[in-house]
Amino acid sequence: MAIAYIGLGSNLSGNHNGQLFSPQAQLEQAVLSLCAHHRIDVLEQSSFYQTTAIGPGQQPDYINAVVQLQTSLKPIELLDLLQSIENQQGRERTIRWGARTLDLDILLYDQHTENSQRLILPHPRMHERSFVLAPLAELAPQLTLAGGKNIAELLANCSMQGIVKL
Ligand code: ATP
Ligand code: CA
Ligand code: CA
Repeated sequence: MAIAYIGLGSNLSGNHNGQLFSPQAQLEQAVLSLCAHHRIDVLEQSSFYQTTAIGPGQQPDYINAVVQLQTSLKPIELLDLLQSIENQQGRERTIRWGARTLDLDILLYDQHTENSQRLILPHPRMHERSFVLAPLAELAPQLTLAGGKNIAELLANCSMQGIVKL
């Protein structure tokens, strides 16, 4: 069994089973889908954060959170599952970093490192993103990345401008 941390984000409402889901409801639904999987135990969930979008053009604010889970899925199997949950919730892949109904990233998978075409671990941009570090620091402030700094230290070096804990 491995421990993985998943970064969740949404800045678009979307239809799910005939109902309109807000960005926060998209994240809640994604956590329910993770909980329902027989090879995943969701252990902990962070608070929700409202964060200013950093992608191209004007975009609505994001809702972000992080969950810690235990799983027997291999990293690539976990990525397949996350992408199928994104698709179920209406994720459309148009422009890079464009607005989306749901984004699920694997931030960390134990101490595993990988650099393949489909999967890079740890997530290559997590250490510089306060919208990832702030919720992750609630769950694992002492967790140390390859650079030698822990999550709390990395967060202290990031701007918290545009990040509001809900
Ligand atoms: P960013 O990676 O900067 O957060 P993004 O989440 O908007 O950007 P996506 O369009 O969701 O990027 O994903 C592009 C590709 O990234 C995916 O198809 C996936 O194969 C790849 N990828 C590489 N590493 C990871 C990871 N750790 N978690 C999720 N996807 C990953
Ligand atoms: Ca992402
Ligand atoms: Ca992604």
